[in-house]
Amino acid sequence: MEKGKEKEKEKGKIGVTTENIFPIIKKFLYSDHEIFLRELISNAVDATQKLKAMASMGDYKEELGDMTIRVKLDKKKKTLTVTDSGIGMSAEEIDKYINQIAFSSAEDFLEKYKNQANSIIGHFGLGFYSSFMVSKKVEIVSQSCDTKIPAMRWSCDGTPDYTLEETTRGQRGTDVILHFDKDSEEFAEESRIEGILKKYCRFLPIPIAFGKETEWKDGKSVETDKDKIINDTNPLWTRKPVDLKDEDYLEFYHKLYPLVEDPLFNIHLNVDYPFHLTGILYFPKIRNNFEIQKNKIQLYCNQVFVTDSVEGIVPEFLTLLHGVIDSPDIPLNVSRSYLQSDSNVKKIAAHITKKVADRLQEIFKNDREQFEKKWDDLKIFIEYGMMTEEKFYDQASKIALLKNTEGKYFTLEEYESLIKENQKDKNGTLVYLYTTHKEEQFSFIEAARAKGYDVLMMDGYLDTHFINHMESKLKNSHFVRVDSDIIDKLIMKEEKRESKLPEQHQRDLSQVFESQLPDNKTHFSVVFESLNEEDTPIVITQSEYMRRMKDMSQLGGSASFYGNLPDHFSVVINSNHLLIQKINEDKEKKCRKDLDKYDEKIKPLEDNKKEIESANKDKKEEEIQQADKDRIADLESKIKEFRDKQTAVLKGFGSKHKLVKQLIDIALLSNNMLKGEDLNRFIKRSIELL
Ligand code: ADP
Repeated sequence: MEKGKEKEKEKGKIGVTTENIFPIIKKFLYSDHEIFLRELISNAVDATQKLKAMASMGDYKEELGDMTIRVKLDKKKKTLTVTDSGIGMSAEEIDKYINQIAFSSAEDFLEKYKNQANSIIGHFGLGFYSSFMVSKKVEIVSQSCDTKIPAMRWSCDGTPDYTLEETTRGQRGTDVILHFDKDSEEFAEESRIEGILKKYCRFLPIPIAFGKETEWKDGKSVETDKDKIINDTNPLWTRKPVDLKDEDYLEFYHKLYPLVEDPLFNIHLNVDYPFHLTGILYFPKIRNNFEIQKNKIQLYCNQVFVTDSVEGIVPEFLTLLHGVIDSPDIPLNVSRSYLQSDSNVKKIAAHITKKVADRLQEIFKNDREQFEKKWDDLKIFIEYGMMTEEKFYDQASKIALLKNTEGKYFTLEEYESLIKENQKDKNGTLVYLYTTHKEEQFSFIEAARAKGYDVLMMDGYLDTHFINHMESKLKNSHFVRVDSDIIDKLIMKEEKRESKLPEQHQRDLSQVFESQLPDNKTHFSVVFESLNEEDTPIVITQSEYMRRMKDMSQLGGSASFYGNLPDHFSVVINSNHLLIQKINEDKEKKCRKDLDKYDEKIKPLEDNKKEIESANKDKKEEEIQQADKDRIADLESKIKEFRDKQTAVLKGFGSKHKLVKQLIDIALLSNNMLKGEDLNRFIKRSIELL
């Protein structure tokens, strides 16, 4: 300030309708204090670009000179100065743009969006005033680009009172000087400021200097007099796709995300109409850590970083992608719920989805080989997208691939025609067979292939959900895991074979086999099927439905109830197999006598019970005489006693029968369920049996 100008100093109150906005700014905008710097630098960039625009239109005729924006920190004085060489402001402009803040109904709004500094700041054009979140005093020294107009110094100490006076600045441009308040002295640190600049200003279009470059001299790092520019003014997404090579995209990717694997594909977005949007999206290479990879897309508004949580702006499945999106048309400074309902944002989301699908289709068409090669990594995105975005499903279902156990890839359409002939069941349902583990389900896969069926690999992270989704989409189709039933029942065809084992014998044999089933948390139930004589004598299967529910519960979601149930398997015995017949004959030889003995005892008891029951059959429960009730209970308990004895006979027989044990173990083994000591015993027994 120059002495002679003291008398011209204008004093006034900042034009806000609320009593005093500063306490409000400080009180509510606590969460994101650091954005003050983004706001000041954005203003400096705007001022610089405005001048450049004027110059290009011939409205500004002087030299533009060096337009670098400079950020200077004075650690001692605890001040930060942002200097630009832009259009500057006259006294009138300062009055209009700085003093008269449009701040109507501020309090209502602030109350509503308390914790969202971003929303408030942008909404009210409070960009500049965010500096009061961290400052006890802010000064502006500005020389308009019209150098006939005097330079001005504006100063305000955090009350609505400001001062405005003439000063000299020499060159055109503006300095904004912040005097940090006590609570905000953390910002008077180079590393802090550099961190904020790198976060928000890394790709701004005007060079921003903070500090000096260093170099190694005599074994130590010394400052040079060269400005350290913290930003890349010409980031890749602002350039024309035709000028760029794969390496450029790769290099930019690694600049954004150091230390990650190369991405699979990239998509360069470049939209002019009906909104502006540029950006580069990458399909990253991920297989695990599904959750952790979210929120990697950075959102920019005219090259100013805004946020990296893009939910609501891009469709959910695309939040798994990496990259940048830049759009001046996304209303960035409003709340998320507003964003989600904004029609512009919806259009943008739909457009991005379409672009992504287009690009995938293009790769698929032009280079199917490459597409197939990358499919295993790519499929998580595509499946997720197909499940969550109807529009994306329509496009992606033409290029989504299914892989079979031989490693061949098919589109949905191709696959349907592959299996259409052979894999329809008697009701005309097309059955897609799949495996989740080629080794563990090997024998089932083999059995299916022996029948001429094809088996899909469904071992991806989302496959269980995807299968459910596809069943709701594909008409008359059903997915079944190869080990969820015996081969004849996986795809039920018409023919039905006679069982060589009468029902009574099946019941006996159930108990014989039960005596040797593993005694652990897993639940097994024995069932008989009349299969081919040559089919395996015994197979262990797990119902498709239960297994799928359990798998889904592991991924979280509504099926979690199933996760707590014990595993339930069926032990399917081929009643027509010779070995089963043989065990049955053995059983007859060794147990028949005893079984009959008990049957003889049971018979009169049952007859007696039936008699009493039929005498009482027309009576209501309360009309039946107590003596009859007691008698029935007594008969039942006697019958049970003899039946238990029969069971004991059968179990006694079964538990000593090596062949029974051997068959169960073989079935367990082919399901990868025979482990440790049991496996060891099996091997020993096998040798003995040889
Ligand atoms: P917004 O930038 O959202 O309009 P601000 O409160 O940040 O709101 O700034 C208000 C106005 O003050 C700007 O629109 C601009 O006209 C003026 N202004 C702010 N900073 C500068 C600057 N460094 N140079 C020139 N004019 C500026």
